[in-house]
Amino acid sequence: RRDFVANVSHEIRTPLTVLAGFVETMQSLSLSDTERENYLGLMAAQADRMQTLVQDLLTLSRLEGSPLPDSHELIDLAALMAECEAEARGLSELMNPDKGGQQLVFEPPPAFRLAGSASELRSAASNLINNAVRYTPSGGSIRVRWEHAPAGHVRLAVTDTGAGIAPEHLSRIGERFYRVDRSRSRESGGTGLGLAIAKHVAQRHGGELQVVSELGRGSTFSLVFPQ
Ligand code: ADP
Repeated sequence: RRDFVANVSHEIRTPLTVLAGFVETMQSLSLSDTERENYLGLMAAQADRMQTLVQDLLTLSRLEGSPLPDSHELIDLAALMAECEAEARGLSELMNPDKGGQQLVFEPPPAFRLAGSASELRSAASNLINNAVRYTPSGGSIRVRWEHAPAGHVRLAVTDTGAGIAPEHLSRIGERFYRVDRSRSRESGGTGLGLAIAKHVAQRHGGELQVVSELGRGSTFSLVFPQ
């Protein structure tokens, strides 16, 4: 808990320091309209960063504090995947505005159904899919599919041709605030909490988060669920 509080404080302190710095500049210097616009844009970006962090922290604390998902609610996977796809395509265009872009392939929804919490699953799936978009350079591809896995399990697999992760990092993937590529995480609006949320959601449904990755070639992140 002490480490967690220290991490959260650190994550909030950085954007707050930048924001306070800009406020001071605007109070003490007379700026041209263009400079003002520029500073306000940078301030808005820092405020957004803090907002996203607080949202992810609230999601995590809700997951920790709430009863296990209702196993009688059947999730409409087609609708859920359509929402994730629309979000991922928007993010991909935003992040690759003038280059070749990424190829996003969403396979048709599966014939099976999943019992659990739709909102939790949506949050877990969109974290994996959006990460694939964020950590794959322009020209790369991302494939999302539901499939049967061994022992009667089913899984959502998200495969990308992006940066990949070296073996020494894999065991720590899913820890809160653990980042392999710190600068890429920051640049692309990361909080360091997305995979912790995905892992938690999988576990609350009796499943797990799995990662297979090769540095420089890409990764497959999966949410695996029991039959
Ligand atoms: P972040 O907000 O930093 O992306 P996450 O918890 O979602 O936080 O992911 C943790 C770290 O795992 C990231 O900072 C990144 O280094 C690594 N990572 C996650 N997804 C991928 C991916 N698809 N390809 C390569 N690295 C990834």
